Order: sequence, then C-alpha cells, then structure tokens
Amino acid sequence: MTERLATALQKYWGYGEFRPMQKEAMECLCTGRDVVVVLPTGGGKSLCFQAPAVTSPGLAVVVSPLISLMKDQVDALTECGVPAARIDSSVSPEERDDVLEQIRNRRLKLLYISPERLVSESFSKYLQKLDLSFIAIDEAHCISMWGHDFRPEYRQLGSLRKVFPKVTIGAYTATATEHVRRDIAEQLSLRDPAMLVGSFDRPNLIYKVRPRNRIVKQVCEVIDRHRDESGIIYCIRRRDVDEMAAALTVKGFCVAPYHAGMSDEARKKNQDDFVTEKIDTIVATIAFGMGIDKSNVRYVIHAGMPKSLEHYQQESGRSGRDGLEAECCLFYSGGDYGTWKSLMGEMDPQAKEIALAKLSRMYRYCTEGVCRRKAILEYFGQSLGKNECSACDICLGDVDSIEDSLIVAQKILSCVLRLGQRFGGAYTAMVLTGSRDQRILDNGHDTLSTYGLLSEHDSHAVQNWIEQLTGQGFLEKTGDYNVLVVTTEGRRVLKGEVTPRLLRPTQKPERKAKVATDAWQGVDRRLFETLRMVRGALARERGIPAFVIFGDAALRDMARRRPSTLQAFLEVKGVGQTKARQYGRIMVERIRAHCIEHAIEMDLSPL
Ligand code: ADP
Ligand code: ZN
Repeated sequence: MTERLATALQKYWGYGEFRPMQKEAMECLCTGRDVVVVLPTGGGKSLCFQAPAVTSPGLAVVVSPLISLMKDQVDALTECGVPAARIDSSVSPEERDDVLEQIRNRRLKLLYISPERLVSESFSKYLQKLDLSFIAIDEAHCISMWGHDFRPEYRQLGSLRKVFPKVTIGAYTATATEHVRRDIAEQLSLRDPAMLVGSFDRPNLIYKVRPRNRIVKQVCEVIDRHRDESGIIYCIRRRDVDEMAAALTVKGFCVAPYHAGMSDEARKKNQDDFVTEKIDTIVATIAFGMGIDKSNVRYVIHAGMPKSLEHYQQESGRSGRDGLEAECCLFYSGGDYGTWKSLMGEMDPQAKEIALAKLSRMYRYCTEGVCRRKAILEYFGQSLGKNECSACDICLGDVDSIEDSLIVAQKILSCVLRLGQRFGGAYTAMVLTGSRDQRILDNGHDTLSTYGLLSEHDSHAVQNWIEQLTGQGFLEKTGDYNVLVVTTEGRRVLKGEVTPRLLRPTQKPERKAKVATDAWQGVDRRLFETLRMVRGALARERGIPAFVIFGDAALRDMARRRPSTLQAFLEVKGVGQTKARQYGRIMVERIRAHCIEHAIEMDLSPL
C-alpha cells in the first residue's frame, strides 16, 4: 500500500518522498481508520487525502468551505493529471452533468463539494449508492466554535456519521489548539480516530520583529529585498490599509488593497490579481487570507501587531507554503495594544479577558527578545527539540542585548516612580533624555533627579525600552491614557533582584539566514527568471494561477538541474508525468537555449 502511495506521489506530483506525517495520514485512509491530521500551513495536508484518493478504487469526497479553495485544488489536480471535479453553485448545469457522467463511468477520483450539499437529503442519497473511498473534511476547524473560523454550515456535518455509517472520515486542519482538535473529533463522531499532530515549526520562515518608527520606509526596505515576488502586508485597520496602499503606490510599488469595507467585486478583483500575479503585493486587514492557497508568497509583513500568537502564526504562515525561504517581518508599537483593545469594543467579559490575555502574550512576544521560533512553538505546547533555529532576528544576531540592561531599566523605572506614575511612555522617554519640551518645563520635571539620565540615547530608543519593559511585565499601562505604573516584578528590578533583557538593533550588517542561501544553492538565477516568465505566459494563456502550473520549488530545481531531455526533465522535483507531457518540451527548449547562450553546463544531478 505504501508503495502504491509512493508511486502515485512520484507519478502525479513528481515528489520523491513523503513529508513528515504524510505517510501515516495516508495509510489511515487506506486502511479505513478515521483520522484527524493537524499540520501547519504548507505542511502538505492536501496530499494526505489526494494521494489515497488516487490509489483507492472508489470516489473520494472532499468538503471545503470556499469555492475559491475548491477551484484551486481542482485546477491543481487536473494539471497533475488526477481526475478531479467540483460541484458548487458556480458550476453550470452542463458542467454538472458532465461531472455526474464521470462519476457514473467511475472515472472521477475526487469530488469537491460544500458541506451543505454533502448533507443535503437528495445529494447524500445519491452518494450513498456510490462506492465512496472516504470523506475528507478540509479546514475542519470550521466545525468548532472554539476555533478562529467557525462556520455554521460546517456544523451540519455532525450528521455525516449517521448518513454514511460505513465510510472512513478524515479531518484536516492547521489549528494548533488541543481543544479544537478534540472538538473536531467529537462533532464528527469519529470512531477511535488517529490523531496525527505534526510539528508547528516552519523552518523555512525567517522571523523578524522590530519596533515601528517610520513604517512606510520600513515596509519599503522589506519589499525592496523581494522585487517581483509575492507578498502580503497586514495592517490593523481599514484606514491603515488604504493609507499604506496609497503610500506604496506613490513609491512605485505594484500593490492593491483588501479589506471588508470594499465592495465584493473590488475585493475579488484584487484577490484574483494577486493570485494570478498581476500584482505582487496585497495590503490587507486580517479579512484576507482564508482561501488563498498561493504557494509562493515570499514575505508577510505585519505593519501592526496581530491580536494573538494564533493569528500571527496563521497570517505569517501564509508565506513559504512551497517550503522555500520566506521572510516574516513584524513591526509593532505599544500603541497597537490600545488599538486592538479599543477595537474589541463591547464584549462578553469572560471572552474579553481571554482576548486581552492573548493580546498581552502577543505583546510580550514582540518585546521579550527570546528566539521567535521557540516562543511560538512553546505557545502551542511544542518544543524546538533538537532542531536549531538559525532563522530569526534573535538567533541571527540582528539585535543585541545592551550590556547595562539592569541599570538602564532601573533608571527608567525610577523615573516612572518620580513622575508619580501619572504619565505615558513618550513623556517619560522625553524626561529621561532631557528634552526641553515646554510641557516638561511647565511641569518642572527638568528638576527631577531622573531628568536627562539617559540623555546619551535618543528618545525613540528609550521609548522602545519602555515598551520592552512593559511587554516583559515590569511596567504596566493603565487607564485610557496608558499611564505607566511599576509592577511588583518591576520593583524587584529596582532592588536588583531580576535583570530584564533590553535589546537594540545591531549596527552590524544583517546576516542572511541559512535557509535563504540553501534554497538557492546551485540555482542559475537568470534561468530561474526566464522560466518564471515562461510560466507566467503559460498561466495567462490557460487562465490558471502560475503556481498551479509549477511551484517556485520546481522552477528552482529546473534552473539547478538544467535538464536537456524530457527524460531528465522528469527528474525535477515537482514534475509529474502529466506536467512533463504538457510543458516538458517548451521548458526544456528554453533551458537549452539559455544554457547554450550563456555557456553553462546542463544535466546536473544535485544531491
Ligand atoms: P497545506 O494544505 O498543509 O497548507 P499543501 O497541501 O497546500 O499544504 O502543500 C503545500 C506545498 O507543499 C504544495 O506546494 C505541495 O505541492 C507541496 N508538497 C506537499 N507534499 C509534498 C511532498 N511530499 N514533497 C514535496 N512537496 C510537497
Ligand atoms: Zn531563533
């Protein structure tokens, strides 16, 4: 059985090996065991049901929450030569008849449908008469009220077990919380399901966190590193989205906005333009993301702090699905905390308490200065294990802790006390740096013993240390004006019992993460660019997203191996038989032409 799965993986997808957990997940379906598969975004969940569907004799039914998701997956499967189709409200009666005909002839392997349709009386009666291999529920957390994306129509899937008592059910999600996983199994009445939970580590993502100061400039620096590549910029409010999109457009970047305040059409257009690579970058609120399967997003920027680490993991996780390096840059400010708090508005007190705790945890993540990867994994109850992190700002040494953290922290905390715990961060920083601001003079604060104690630093730096102390729990912001108060822990700092860790950006040039250089090992960049153009042209011709034709990983492997024959082309990772037949000739021709022109070697076989 495993052999057949491996053969299918190679033949249709051109992949030589399973990703972690894939084999186990596939074997469950093949042996009739219900299963819940939890893998992070980009972990390769879809293949966990797609490959078994190919090797099983009957028809597999896949439930998906969004038409756009179904469409992308069906397009991608069709490109790979796997007989797949969808039936949804956007499919014409003729197309639908055609699908039913394929089912009748037992040609179809995967059928994508909405949850409503699956449990509807007429359709489920129809399906009951067929030989179903299994039912796969994609984005299964949508069934749980505890998840972040509850969908009432998913709740109806609770009746699935009764309607299809004999059919194996698999549920797939990237949701990390234990509670939701258990809820999924319960809601679906799974029978002794295998719970397969993969590691949430995404080794190819490079995490960076910086205080926000001149945000447009900061964002431009990131995009500049990723010219012609796809990226997402998240902002907290719609207004921020519009402003950021406008500012970047003025600077000549090719971006489009996306938020819930826009018309459905405008939003859909921008999303489509992003997926088909007419535009490189989307500037969005968190309304954007679900249903975006685009595998080659090379960076995600947060221009404001997300409201929880769950959200951060989800949103940043939309980059690098193809396993290639991607950059996740988060720019935060203490003010974001207040923004989210005010956006919460009226809420059930208990829910609000939970939301605030998550927000504080997020804030601490920004300011505490420990390995970002470790912090995220620990939040989800996992550890980095023996895997090392060499791809976050802390581990790369992009930030240094200052040597005299304790003394600086004590100066700040005592200044807060001297100010009677009645002022905010900006004011406190001005006092500490010895500002001649009129307000300070009027208040007589230039006579305080702490006035000018940190005058060798600029007030931005001091203000950021105040944020760090707040994030680490030594200071607290209170009231509507975010007045600083020293906490019990903060008092211990004053006594010298604990030492906070204060950071500042390093002066050294940024080091490149190893994942970023490794993924380009041996790749002829110019050839990669040429092949990317060819891919783009093919995609436009056929009206499908470019990454559905070939992922970036496959293109890089082509530009690395530089195959001169169709046979050699089949060796490329991510090239299955159908794609080789379909596009092999044109790609090989271009590769040959390029290599001859530039006199570079062909038919390499990297290890
Ligand atoms: P998820 O649904 O978990 O976010 P996907 O199923 O979209 O992830 O897979 C992410 C990417 O990884 C896709 O481009 C997919 O083709 C690729 N992939 C999946 N399994 C493998 C594998 N065994 N080897 C190489 N690439 C894989
Ligand atoms: Zn790290």
